[in-house]
Amino acid sequence: MSNLGEEYSVTVKLENLSKSYGCFDAVSGLNLTIQEGAFHFLLGPSGCGKTTTLRMLAGLESPTHGRLFIDGRDVTKLSAVDRGIGMVFQNYALWPHMSVWENCEYGLKIKKIPSYQRKKRVEHVLDMVQLRSFAQGLPGQHSGGQQQRVALARALAPEPRVLLLDEPLSNLDAKLRLEMREYLCQIQEETKITMIFVTHDQKEALSMGSEVTVLSDGRHIQTGTPRALYERPVNAFIAEFVGETNLVAGKISYQNGSCVVATHLGDFYCQGWGSELDRFRSGASVVLSIRPEVIDILWQKEQHRSLNYRRLKLQSRLYLGDSEQVRLVKNQGSPGAQSDLQAKIFRSPNHQTCVGGDVHLTVSPEKIAVLPWDQEVGLI
Ligand code: ADP
Ligand code: MG
Repeated sequence: MSNLGEEYSVTVKLENLSKSYGCFDAVSGLNLTIQEGAFHFLLGPSGCGKTTTLRMLAGLESPTHGRLFIDGRDVTKLSAVDRGIGMVFQNYALWPHMSVWENCEYGLKIKKIPSYQRKKRVEHVLDMVQLRSFAQGLPGQHSGGQQQRVALARALAPEPRVLLLDEPLSNLDAKLRLEMREYLCQIQEETKITMIFVTHDQKEALSMGSEVTVLSDGRHIQTGTPRALYERPVNAFIAEFVGETNLVAGKISYQNGSCVVATHLGDFYCQGWGSELDRFRSGASVVLSIRPEVIDILWQKEQHRSLNYRRLKLQSRLYLGDSEQVRLVKNQGSPGAQSDLQAKIFRSPNHQTCVGGDVHLTVSPEKIAVLPWDQEVGLI
């Protein structure tokens, strides 16, 4: 029997959830448990089934297979209004002929909430999104950011158990998007409501989510904290999708208790976390993920004896203000030399290396992720 405490704190559970359109599987056998109060992100490229999953949760689409639970109750066959779920869409979907106030009040009227309670509740949600003074205007009179805040207030007014947000920041410009990220995190913190947020933007997911689920082609690939996904991706697709990385093809072997991966850039000592490396037998083809910022440039000669030491040539450098992005190659001018390793330097010392000059570097064994072989990703 499962731990009761754990069961009680689960708000949303997807069990083998699938949706097919004809013979096309938009969502395939999704299993996911989302704890109460989580800010859970569904992240994946366009067309991977995020909206379809959210629409099934909301009751706007019925699953082909599988079941959905909210607070332990099977809601698969329940209508959208009976699920206690709020939803915010990318295009706001506000009623243009109703005032901001009426938009927020509408869901409460449907639930037959008495008028004095409605008034209190609408005032409260408009205060929460700092739009009380805009209550009498029509949504169209306001900016995109304000309209999205109205949509948020409208969704929060009936006090849903779960709030679903489908790419709610995609229509906003970059500056407003950053403001709204902080803003949404604050509201989540204040209300402690379980939120499921869909996005294709990995920075949005990593910066806001308490947990992130990555989908690809309608399938579940990995669920974890932003840090786990970034530092310990389960495969090369995740490593590439949740940030920049160097994917290096190699062959694994175990020598005197150490894991060594032979690549065209020489041997790399690697140290997995826990039992991570147990899945690879000696001789197996693997992919190494080495993020640009874990490559340590060595400026002092005595450091050149360190593990995973390499001497490469500086092919190009790109000044980025807070850092520099450098491209390093093994043999300048050789075929394929354009893309050996990409590194990020945060503090350039005074003695700067010129293009064509030698760069000495090392990578800590525990900062290299060893991943299963994958010929679909661009390897170096
Ligand atoms: P995402 O939100 O991740 O971009 P969607 O969930 O909207 O992806 O769509 C997933 C896949 O299902 C896409 O290939 C899309 O074209 C397809 N799809 C979505 N809705 C329908 C539909 N009503 N009929 C046929 N195909 C659909
Ligand atoms: Mg979508």
